[in-house]
Amino acid sequence: MTIPAGWQVDIGLEIHAQLKTTSKIFSGASTQFGQLPNSQASVIDLGMPGVLPAVNGVVFEKAVRFGLGVGGRINRESRFDRKNYFYPDLPKGYQITQMDQPIVVGGSVTIDLPDGSTKLIALTRAHLEEDAGKSIHDRKPNYTGIDLNRAGTPLLEIVSEPQLKSPEEAVSYARVIHQLLTYLEICDGNMAEGSLRFDANVSVRRINDEALGVRSEIKNLNSFRFLDQAINFEISRQVETLNAGETLSQDTRLFDPDQLETRPMRSKETATDYRYFPEPDLLPVVLSERYIDEIKKEMPELPQVRTQRYHSAFALPLADAQLLAQDRRLADFFDETVAKTQTPKTTANWIKGDLLARLNEASLTIAESPVTSEQLAELITMVDQDTISGKIAKDVFGALWEGRTTSASAYVHEHQLEQVSDQSALEPLIASLLKEHPKQADDLKAGKDKLMGFFVGKVMQATQGKANPKQVNDLIRGKIDQR
Ligand code: ADP
Ligand code: MG
Repeated sequence: MTIPAGWQVDIGLEIHAQLKTTSKIFSGASTQFGQLPNSQASVIDLGMPGVLPAVNGVVFEKAVRFGLGVGGRINRESRFDRKNYFYPDLPKGYQITQMDQPIVVGGSVTIDLPDGSTKLIALTRAHLEEDAGKSIHDRKPNYTGIDLNRAGTPLLEIVSEPQLKSPEEAVSYARVIHQLLTYLEICDGNMAEGSLRFDANVSVRRINDEALGVRSEIKNLNSFRFLDQAINFEISRQVETLNAGETLSQDTRLFDPDQLETRPMRSKETATDYRYFPEPDLLPVVLSERYIDEIKKEMPELPQVRTQRYHSAFALPLADAQLLAQDRRLADFFDETVAKTQTPKTTANWIKGDLLARLNEASLTIAESPVTSEQLAELITMVDQDTISGKIAKDVFGALWEGRTTSASAYVHEHQLEQVSDQSALEPLIASLLKEHPKQADDLKAGKDKLMGFFVGKVMQATQGKANPKQVNDLIRGKIDQR
């Protein structure tokens, strides 16, 4: 969008990521999506009297991985607090969260800007908390249902500094976080199921104003598009309000995707409204250096680092590097294949061309690919070494994909598809072709280069595509020159 002239925009995001765990943060109840309402709410998730929460250790491992991924500080001692509020989907009357001592402090991520440059966005913190239940408004007319299956689902809330200057930057940042979370297997990233939700804090101020403007917080945006649309609307609304000489009040709003507008939900509550206090049922969590080192050792190469490596060390175009690095399994597949072929460019072309096309067509992920990295590497090597032609290689790839063979070399051998590079076999063939088509041969000699394709095509036909095109070219040229 174009920001209205004379104004600037400040945006900070709070991102709620559901952690990929099988059980809840403080109970053993399942976190599986889409089950019968209220079938997965244990007495602990409901906060029944006399029950005690126990922390699921997996959530710390994931939060630490995130902290390392963004270069933040991992608090060696973190605590849980109670945030008190009343809402029908929160029968306990409080949410267990981290207020004073969150697990991760600081850190940053790099985002891409539309003009091709990059920008560093600072994170404030990331803390662990439990999700609330869900109010269901569309099941029974005149009634609101409550589904508490989601209550107690572990969340990592990631808070950014207000350094995003436009809807585009906010979306770019949200995408980077989404990629990092899925790469590190912290969150499944499924936004349709609510696994990742954005709260956008938006304010505007005049170009020369020092202080940040009065912000609104738009809650629970569950797609990149809604994030973009909600911020766009909010910027226009705030600028119009201020231009009309009215003042803004800090509030919490909801986005209506049908009307493409935000509407006030409540005026802004402050920390004191929530009467935060340390959660008395849980001890502080102390992480040892060894524990953190173990997680550090298992960290994969991060997507942006990987993209840079493909771009600079492998000399791939940036777009190709991004495409291959974007999905961790795909990038692993690419790395495994290159390790065997030693030709990153050719390998990248095979993967982004033939392999991805077939996978998309069949709606398969790279993990489900019927062609393994070993098989593909063998095939590419045969082309690189001129054992088979590029055209034959496509056929062999098809045979591998369809399971007609498990080995490129065995298939090539069995069907005698080796490239004919034997000069003594090609020379007589070319000689007789020139004799059969004397007019075309004369024209080629006279400079009608298009006719080269005609003869190469004939040779390919005669050899069922097994001739080496470059060699055929050279041989024809030689014979024509002697003519
Ligand atoms: P709260 O926890 O009450 O929502 P915080 O101060 O922790 O408030 O800020 C929450 C988010 O709002 C952060 O992402 C922060 O960057 C952002 N934010 C704070 N002030 C502004 C502002 N004036 N304009 C835009 N974003 C802001
Ligand atoms: Mg907030």
